This record gives sequence, C-alpha cells and structure tokens, in this order.
Amino acid sequence: MAKISIDLKSGKVKKQSNVVIGIDLGTTNSLVAYMKEGEPLAVKGSDGKNTLVPSIIHFNEKDRVIVGKSAKERLVSHPERTIYSVKRLMGKSFNDVENFKSHLGYEIINEDEEKLVKIKVGHRFYTPIELSSEILKELKDRIEQELDAIVTKAVITVPAYFNDTQRQATRDAGKLAGLDVLRIVNEPTAASLAYGVGLDEDKDETVAVYDLGGGTFDVSILEIRGGIFEVLSTHGDTFLGGDDFDRAIVDHWQNRIGEKDGDKSFQQELRLLAETAKKSLSNQKEFKGTIGNTSFSLNTAKFNGLIQPIIQRTIDACQKALNDAGCKITDIDKVILVGGSTRTPLVKEMVSSFFGQTAFDKLNPDEVVALGAAVQADVLAGNQKDVLLLDVTPLSLGIETMGGLMDVIIPRNSKIPAKAGRNYTTSVDGQKNLKVSVFQGERDLVKDNRKLGEFILSGIPPMPAGIPKIAIHFIIDADGILKVKALEERSGVETSVEIRSQYGVSEEEMALMLLESLKNAESDMKARALLEAKIEAKNVLLSADKFMKNNKSILSPEEMQQTQLLTLQLKVAVEGTDKDLINDALHQLNTYTHPLAHRAMDHNIANAMKGKKL
Ligand code: AMP
Repeated sequence: MAKISIDLKSGKVKKQSNVVIGIDLGTTNSLVAYMKEGEPLAVKGSDGKNTLVPSIIHFNEKDRVIVGKSAKERLVSHPERTIYSVKRLMGKSFNDVENFKSHLGYEIINEDEEKLVKIKVGHRFYTPIELSSEILKELKDRIEQELDAIVTKAVITVPAYFNDTQRQATRDAGKLAGLDVLRIVNEPTAASLAYGVGLDEDKDETVAVYDLGGGTFDVSILEIRGGIFEVLSTHGDTFLGGDDFDRAIVDHWQNRIGEKDGDKSFQQELRLLAETAKKSLSNQKEFKGTIGNTSFSLNTAKFNGLIQPIIQRTIDACQKALNDAGCKITDIDKVILVGGSTRTPLVKEMVSSFFGQTAFDKLNPDEVVALGAAVQADVLAGNQKDVLLLDVTPLSLGIETMGGLMDVIIPRNSKIPAKAGRNYTTSVDGQKNLKVSVFQGERDLVKDNRKLGEFILSGIPPMPAGIPKIAIHFIIDADGILKVKALEERSGVETSVEIRSQYGVSEEEMALMLLESLKNAESDMKARALLEAKIEAKNVLLSADKFMKNNKSILSPEEMQQTQLLTLQLKVAVEGTDKDLINDALHQLNTYTHPLAHRAMDHNIANAMKGKKL
C-alpha cells in the first residue's frame, strides 16, 4: 500500500518510503545509512562529499537552529550559543554532570539536581533530548533528500554502557524528530553486523570492538552464540580520544618554540594544525606546516613517542575488559576497529599486537557503526528473511507456581533472543510428574494471563517433597519462538516444548493486556496514594501547629481562627479514607497560610514551612 504525505516544509507531495534507516548518533559526529541494493551505504550531504554531520547545534539570535558543519564554524565565534557533546548529557541529571561541566563551553543549569539537566541558550532552556532531536532531524532531512521520500522508521545506536535512562532519552529524541525508533542497538553490535559478524547463526564467536573517537574511548567484548549478541564486558574512558593526540602535539610544539600561552586565536590555529599533522601522519612519515612565520614539523617517530602512553591506557582497558568478561586473549576470534582515531597507524599496531591478530579495518571506521545500524534496520524491515531478528519481549513470560501465581522468568521488554532459568521443586512426597504451564502477561495470577501451553515432566524418581531439583529454562530465539525446557537435575529426566510466543498475540491484544494489568494495579495505587496523602497531611499539621504557636503575636484573631478551622478540617479528613478529601483540605490550608507565612515569619521559619509545602 503506497502512502502519500505532504512535506510541510516545501508543501510538496512526497511519497512515503518503507526504508528503515540506521543512525549513528555520535558525540562528535553523526551519520545516517541505509541499505541500497543489498549493501549498506552512508548518505552524503548536498555537497556530495561528507557523510559525517558534526553533532553540533547552533542557535542564532532569532533562535533559529543550525546543525552540523555550519554550526561547527560558529563554535569559536559564538561558544555560548553553540552546543556540542550533547550525547554526554543524555539521560543525565545536573548532579551526574557536575564534574565535567568545566569541559563544556556552554551553560548547563541547576534547576533541579535530580531531574534531567538542561542547557541554557540565550533566554531559552533545552533538554539534551530536544538538542539531539535537532541532529536527528538533520539526518532525517538528508536521507529524505537522497530518497526523495518521507522516512519515518529508524534504528539508532548507543554505546554498550548506556543505561536504560540514556537509551530511553535517545528513543525520545527520535520520537521528537518524527522517527519511529524500531530499535536501540549497541554500537559494538552494529559494528560487528557491518562486518557481517553475527549474521551466520551457526557460527559462535567472541569479538572485541575497540572504539577510539575524538573524545571518547570504549572497548566491548561481545559473545555471539546462535545469533544472540551478548555484551560480556565493556570498559573505557569517556574523556580519552584523538583530541588527546592533538593536545600532545600542541604541547610538544609549544615546548619547542618556548611559548606556552599565546593569544586565543593562535592557540586555536595551533590546535587545528596539530590535528592536520596527526591526520597526515596516518599515511605519510613527515609533516611540515606554518602559522604566520613560524614553521612546525613532526615525524612519525616523534609522534608515536608522544602518543604511545595515551594508547597504552586504552590497551590497559582492553586487558580489564578481557578480565571482566572472563576471557583470555586467545578466546577472541575477531577484533574490530571503530572511530576516526583508529586510523592512526600506531593505534592499529598496538591493538593488533595486544590481541595477537590483525584488527579489522577495511570499512571506514567513522561509518562502520552507521553501516551496521543500516544492516540491522534492513533486517527489521523484513528484507533479510534468513537473518536473525533481535527484538524485545512485549509481555512477561513465566510459569504457574503454587496457588496459581505467575512466576515471571523473562520479564517484559527483555531483549530477544533471550534465555533465563530458575529452579523449582516438588510439593508432594514421591511426586513423579510435574506439570509446567507457561503463561504470558503482567498480572499476578495466571488465570488473568494468557496461557501459551503446558507440558508434563514425567519420570521423576520418587523422592520426598522438596528434594528434586527441577531447572526450568526459557529460551526465546531470534524469531520470537519460545522454547521451555524442564530438567530434573538429580536424575537427568528432561522434557521440552516449543511455543510460538509473541506472534501469537496481536498488537490490540497486547495493548489490552497491558491496560488490564494497569487497571488492576489501580487498587494498589489507590492504597498507596491514600497513604502518601496521610503522611503529607500529618507533616503539614505538625508544621501548622508550630506555626500558630510561634506567631500568636503576628496573626490577627481572624487569621488565627481561620487557620485553626482549616487545620481541624484536615485533621478530620486524615482520619477518613478519602484521599481527595485529604488533598483538598491540604490544599485549602496551604493556600490560606502561604501568604501569612510569608508576611509573618522571619526568614528561617518561612523556609522551614516552605520545605513542608505549607
Ligand atoms: P569520531 O569521534 O569517531 O568521529 O573520531 C574523530 C577523531 O578521529 C578526531 O580526533 C579526528 O581527529 C580523528 N581522525 C579523523 N581522521 C583521522 C586520520 N586520518 N588519522 C588520525 N585520526 C583521524
């Protein structure tokens, strides 16, 4: 079915594309790729040259947004209106970023230490989600130009170490940019997919993905078994990268010319020249350049001497990652290089020598993550039927235990393929058979969930109740097929069944099931809300009593009487079970005493009362 959309910007009628795009939303650069005639391709901008879009957002005086290369050009002239490194702020609170605030040239604000951080630009505040969505919109525009069609479906990559909040924030940024984010994929997983690693289900491999960008470094050890990607460990340094190479060169040159400071623009030029030198030394042995009348040179031997200690830190992290993964160097089947800084020959050399094998570097290290994201996107679009599908379980899966209770084994939203298991035992002496009933859903009682199937583990040798050790394993493969295995460990008796899980539930059914679970959670929620209202009311009553005692001389008799009346009303409400009545009485007392508190109390008491929401 072809869909027609109207492009709101140009007013043109555009067709809707079925392509699912892959996006690498990076700290320094971002890019978008898609599958073209069976090959992943990174999309270039209108200049036909660059696939990389600098992850930089500039707001001009009229708050108009400029993203990418033109924004980067304004980094020096308008630092306070030009935002970079938003990825470092994704899903973070002010407290989380306190220690690297000084690295940022723009202002982040301390509005609420617990909530997500905001960035101040002029008179406006932006969340990292909004800013990231501007980068995503730019990428969306780019692919739409390329395909001359509207694109709405995407896969976005994130570092393996991103937590759930950071992943959720990335997903929200996508949504805000008008993208339906089908999947958030780990960057090392995408890099592996770009090299075709993991696409052959029969091949089990352990892979090290080494990612050295401009300002961040991480290494991940992945285990790929039967198409299941598992991140065994990840290590890194979020402030280590090619920028440190540039700095090392700048320091070396400054020592040589005996000039430590110099003006800002000279510093900037020196830094840019250092980067040029570094890049040219990736394919030649000598570099020569000038700033004004001063000439600067660098050869490979000197450069290598400067950066060797920096690279050694990344090698130490590789060792730690191996230790954490419980792997030996010889367990690693492949090493994949990601990030612009892996172009530096000494990086390749040291990584290859540490792992005892030549690292993969055929693909452009800047593009490899986006290319892999495009492969994943293509799989999700259903274009590679024979390839695994990494997905999440939309509903929890579990078995029935004593009393008809649902015992969840694989929780809702787990990544699939997935496996999990738990041990059970018998409840009757000499029990020979055990019925295993498998359910799907979010309710506590299995009768309210959906039964997927059941089977009997038979032939358990007679033993007293509680002695048999029955391990039940749930394995969901890449196609969402659930396999349940039951094994009595003492006797080795085993049975298993295959159950088609999520595809047995339609979207509507799933929505209904979630709704049901929410509805029933309502009674619990109600009890909790009442309790919370009572606790708050009791605190406020204590404060109100204190307030009246301490301010007898300041309050008029009418004010005193009215406060007493409202206090009494709250006391009565607290004894009841009507949460709304309590909140209502609370609100009335608060509203009435608020101006009194301000007027009558000295500073300390006013603060104390404010803290209690009086
Ligand atoms: P990324 O964050 O992955 O985009 O990596 C950017 C980093 O790669 C920057 O520090 C660049 O200076 C560095 N880089 C780009 N090209 C080269 C090159 N040819 N040789 C060495 N480093 C490079």
